[in-house]
Amino acid sequence: MKKLYEFLEERGISPTIQRLKILKYIEENLKHPTVDMIYQEISKEIPTLSKTTIYNTMNLFVEKGIVSELCVGEGEVRYEINLAPHAHFRCTECGNIFDVELDLKIFKIKKVDGNQIMHTSVYFTGKCSECLKKKGMINE
Ligand SMILES: [Zn+2]
Ligand SMILES: [Zn+2]
Repeated sequence: MKKLYEFLEERGISPTIQRLKILKYIEENLKHPTVDMIYQEISKEIPTLSKTTIYNTMNLFVEKGIVSELCVGEGEVRYEINLAPHAHFRCTECGNIFDVELDLKIFKIKKVDGNQIMHTSVYFTGKCSECLKKKGMINE
């Protein structure tokens, strides 16, 4: 926990217990959680924690560049700790989101048709290998 404590302090965020727990959860669970998922886990340890606190904390973390919000086109915001740019795959059967490594060139494009790009997200949907296996579909 000491490392996370310093990590937050270095970024000018006062390291409250809630913030530390939330950061630890996101760091250890690279599953692109929603606020609801974070809430369900952490409220077991801190019953007084509210969803509003999690929302506010996530907004603060996004602002400080610690986590990013994912655009995965399903009307809910998911979060992950900031890593190298990568694409996402969402399974339409089980809803899981997987990281996909792509040629980084696509993330380095700064302009398209004279328009300036501020953010790039690449997002695939389909059926994941686990779901294909369960359904007995051929998995190439
Ligand atoms: Zn699946
Ligand atoms: Zn990801």
